[in-house]
Amino acid sequence: MLAEKLLLNLLITIAPVLLCSALADNKQRLNNPFICGLLQSTSALACMIFSYSNYGFNWDLRYVPLILAFLYAGPIAGGMVLSAIICARILMGGDTVLFGLVNSLLTALVPLLFMKKFWNYPPNKRVLLSTLIGGWSLILCYSSLTTFRYFEGDIFKLDFNVPDLLLVGLIDTIAIALAAKLNEGMIEKNKMKEEIQRAEKLNTLGELAASIAHEVRNPLTVVKGFLQLMQQQEAGKNYEYLSLVLSELARAESIINDYLNFAKPKFEKIEEFLLTEVLSEVMMLLAPLAAKQSVQLESQLDYSGFILFTDRNQLKQALVNLIKNAIEATPEGGKVTIHNKSDQTSASILISDTGKGMTPEQLSRIGTLFYTTKDKGTGLGTSVSLRIIETMSGKVSYQSKPGVGTIVTMVLPAGRKEELVNI
Ligand code: ADP
Ligand code: MG
Repeated sequence: MLAEKLLLNLLITIAPVLLCSALADNKQRLNNPFICGLLQSTSALACMIFSYSNYGFNWDLRYVPLILAFLYAGPIAGGMVLSAIICARILMGGDTVLFGLVNSLLTALVPLLFMKKFWNYPPNKRVLLSTLIGGWSLILCYSSLTTFRYFEGDIFKLDFNVPDLLLVGLIDTIAIALAAKLNEGMIEKNKMKEEIQRAEKLNTLGELAASIAHEVRNPLTVVKGFLQLMQQQEAGKNYEYLSLVLSELARAESIINDYLNFAKPKFEKIEEFLLTEVLSEVMMLLAPLAAKQSVQLESQLDYSGFILFTDRNQLKQALVNLIKNAIEATPEGGKVTIHNKSDQTSASILISDTGKGMTPEQLSRIGTLFYTTKDKGTGLGTSVSLRIIETMSGKVSYQSKPGVGTIVTMVLPAGRKEELVNI
């Protein structure tokens, strides 16, 4: 009998989550504390209607909706459930009314205290915390039972049906853990839905921006050409001004090109080439920048004939962006080292620097379009590089410690010279 009632209670406690899930297409309705409070109050009342009376107490899972309402929907919803439970308990009457009321208030106190901190925990910890608070409500119930027995003078009879009490504990714990897990699943589902909608919006915006950027580039080239012609005929102050205008135009052009490359990396010429060749070229290209910043740029290359089959210029661009960042992050006297290693099917390139490094928060933002910490930065370099490597079916990962440095590892599909020639 007890088990049946409790299992029915279990179904009642998870019903609000399932109902919310059915309403999930309307976010406002889902986040409305009054709707959540109403659903959970109904669930708590239904639990009380189908409770099992024993030892002068009513055994049911009414505290599950109460705890969930406070934790997941806030004080309004929690307050509604608490009021519903208190009113119903007073109406039910009996010897244990006072115990019921004190229990309800003490049970509500803990989720009320944890409510603010609750959302700082990751989903699994939130489920665990809900279950632990469920445990607290059980301890309260068992303590009230013992106290009641003590006042009745029955405590020494020890006629408690221990398996029954354990069953209550077990089903209560399962109910709260299950309902919390279902709640988390629903939250995750909604987050994913929002994420997809945001990505779709960004995609459309990105395409729009790319077409505008493309249109702007052509007149810019014409303006640049004429300004160059004018500059040849000017002298003095005007010559200086035109130099400034041209350098700013070049900057605008390079931003537009980077952006267009990000929006749609163009692989114009796919060819076979030695990875070490490209690495040496990039090193040569960046040596002046390193020298200007007094950073030692070093390479430890493995020349064992690893070849790649992709767009050489795009790879060069990706490497330049990442190594440039390493040099820019490194203070005077620091060191940037490039080395490569290979296995049967892939080639790794490691760019390590002894620069300022990044905090986990900064690391999580790296590769986000327009994220920069530099005054004159564009926040495009890393995004472009990651996009290029991704298009080449490669992977880039970052390891960084503030004040120590950063290691960027790039893994690209590759093969040995002899193998590729045979294909
Ligand atoms: P930009 O170089 O124009 O700022 P990027 O997309 O190339 O844009 O880089 C974004 C940000 O990532 C930089 O502003 C910098 O804060 C950080 N970053 C990138 N690489 C490193 C590195 N090796 N060490 C420290 N910070 C880095
Ligand atoms: Mg950069």
